[in-house]
Amino acid sequence: MQQKLRDSLQPSAIELSRFALEGNFSFLKQKAGDGVRISSVIKGNAYGHGISSFIPMAESCGINHFSVFSADEAEGVLKFRSDPDTDVMIMGMIRDSELDWAIQNGIEFYLFEMSRLKAAEKFAKKNQKRASVHLQLETGMHRTGFEMREWKELFKQTSESEWIDVKGICTHFAGAESVANYFRIQNQNKRFQEALELASAYFDPLPARHAASSAAFLTMPETHYDMVRVGIAQYGFWPSRETYMHQAKANRFQEDVDPLRRVMTWKSEVMSTKWVAAGDFIGYGNVYMAGRDMQIATVPIGYTHGFGRNLTNAGHVLINGERAQVSGLVNMNMITVDVTDIPGVQKGDEVVLIGHQGDDEITVASFGEMTNNLNYEILTRLPASIPRLVVA
Ligand SMILES: *Cc1c(COP(=O)(O)O)cnc(C)c1O
Repeated sequence: MQQKLRDSLQPSAIELSRFALEGNFSFLKQKAGDGVRISSVIKGNAYGHGISSFIPMAESCGINHFSVFSADEAEGVLKFRSDPDTDVMIMGMIRDSELDWAIQNGIEFYLFEMSRLKAAEKFAKKNQKRASVHLQLETGMHRTGFEMREWKELFKQTSESEWIDVKGICTHFAGAESVANYFRIQNQNKRFQEALELASAYFDPLPARHAASSAAFLTMPETHYDMVRVGIAQYGFWPSRETYMHQAKANRFQEDVDPLRRVMTWKSEVMSTKWVAAGDFIGYGNVYMAGRDMQIATVPIGYTHGFGRNLTNAGHVLINGERAQVSGLVNMNMITVDVTDIPGVQKGDEVVLIGHQGDDEITVASFGEMTNNLNYEILTRLPASIPRLVVA
């Protein structure tokens, strides 16, 4: 049976569309071609989509590798995966002391320092189980990763170590979503290829090579290697306007070119309606004065739920397929919206805060003050306490 908002006591819910996710993965798989594995990046509570619902959904689309930032997120994958053979990889934060736990649970993790290599060997030996690692190489991002001068020694030590199982060799690009960074990314990719050549003297066959996140994956086929780490695109968003234009151009700018579908719809309902006379102020202070006799609807969503105060007098929601403007301050738990021109609005009517209703859509970008780059931030800030409901 389909889950519904009314089944919880919560004022809003985020619906996750199975149909959209399946469509996205089939597009991404076709883009990747045979032999390129897709790792689903689910840091930041699956970009706000909610890991407990999202992981099994992705698995049912054939995904068997998840990438996370930190150890707590890896623990989430262990908890919510439906297949015990599904792999999990930590790309960032894990304490040396937590390697014991990671190795016991077969969790893959990035190595970017020699000291961690020593710690990994120590705990692997203690558990009599090899540590599964990915060697992260510094190619120009300048954040974490082994420096060029360390590569030879790193490849030598890890290939010879009885306690280390090198699952991957990887790097990360410094902003492949923008043409402005083109040369920097090209140079990184060149350097990565040099590293792979060096590594081939130590590893036969080479471990899985991976470098691309969504942007490089979607626009630079030469960066696909053996695996791609796809975050934002699987949820139905382009990493930037530029990457979308790249796709639109490939499709010769035909209408309806977007092969990605937003997986998320954030919904609430009308709590109450009321008429306000021209000249009266709505809500706190004198932020919004009714310029005419107005009907307003209150919606039980506010900044505590991630609906930012910056949307005061500016944001929109959808009711009966029409746009209603936020009128007055965004409160902690409530907004007031103008429904004067939307006939027949009643208590209990569905309100869409992000996503489609009828023929209209509130995009995450418009929700986040009109800039596409904020997609990532807006999504990951949606509170974990909002229920996530899987729908067809
Ligand atoms: C977040 C992240 C990704 C995914 O990035 P998207 O742009 O969302 O596809 C890939 N690799 C690393 C190392 C990351 O931190």
